[in-house]
Amino acid sequence: MSSPQPDPAALAVIVSYQQQTAQIRQQLEGFIRALWASLGVYRDPQMRDFAKQAAAEVIGAQRHMSAVTSAYLGQQRLLATGSSSVATVNPAKVTGAAVRNGTPMDEVYGRPFHLVWRDLGAAKELDTPPDDYVTKAIQHGEDRAVNLALTDVQLAKTHTTASIGARDAKAKWSRRILEGESSCGLCIVASTVTYHPGKLLPIHPGCDCGQEYGYTDEVPGSVLNDAVLAQGHAAIEERFGKHSPGARAIPGQDGLMYRDVLIEHHDGEIGPVLAIRNHKFTGPTDLAA
Ligand SMILES: [Zn+2]
Repeated sequence: MSSPQPDPAALAVIVSYQQQTAQIRQQLEGFIRALWASLGVYRDPQMRDFAKQAAAEVIGAQRHMSAVTSAYLGQQRLLATGSSSVATVNPAKVTGAAVRNGTPMDEVYGRPFHLVWRDLGAAKELDTPPDDYVTKAIQHGEDRAVNLALTDVQLAKTHTTASIGARDAKAKWSRRILEGESSCGLCIVASTVTYHPGKLLPIHPGCDCGQEYGYTDEVPGSVLNDAVLAQGHAAIEERFGKHSPGARAIPGQDGLMYRDVLIEHHDGEIGPVLAIRNHKFTGPTDLAA
């Protein structure tokens, strides 16, 4: 596999974008955790209050993510084509219920409460519920709320990118760019393939991948080297087990056998989701998170 040296200017644009998106994620996570902790009581009135405040903050973060993503794609296009002109994105189409197939945000941000209530109910049915079951249930709800919010800003990113790519006559292909720490094995392997511009990037819970557009007929070799790809294989094995069909069979090539291993599920709410062939999800909440 070739490991071309990335152009320093292009790399600087990517790094700056990654820093900005990481900051959006961090700030949003901090806000959601603080808001959740401030409630103290987790009943219906708090649910309504939380959902309202969380939704407002998430929409602000999504608009920010969309703006930063448009600017990044413009800079990337400038370097590649000499023109930074990208299509204007309507914020209403890449935020809120629009990126969850119409699911209202108060429903989405009520889910962490239903999770807490379910956990509490299950613990109470045990003969001897563990001492910390209340704390654990509340923590579980908080973590779910953070996952929902981070998925929402990721969806704002992927929808903005697809909207721009669909209207860029010069863009020939698009590719996933790993954002670092959060990249899972699925994304590492999936970053070796190219998509048609305008296609919505498949994600998974916790995904923070970015995308780049290519303006050349020829698709340059993946910047992934064998060592990174091996990490991807190991991560997939760890997550899905050594007996996942194909987990060991991903070749050290530019994604030639990608479709033999990685597949897309279509989730009715969040759209295309990355998965391993034949891997069974534990439940719909995996996808909606
Ligand atoms: Zn990802």
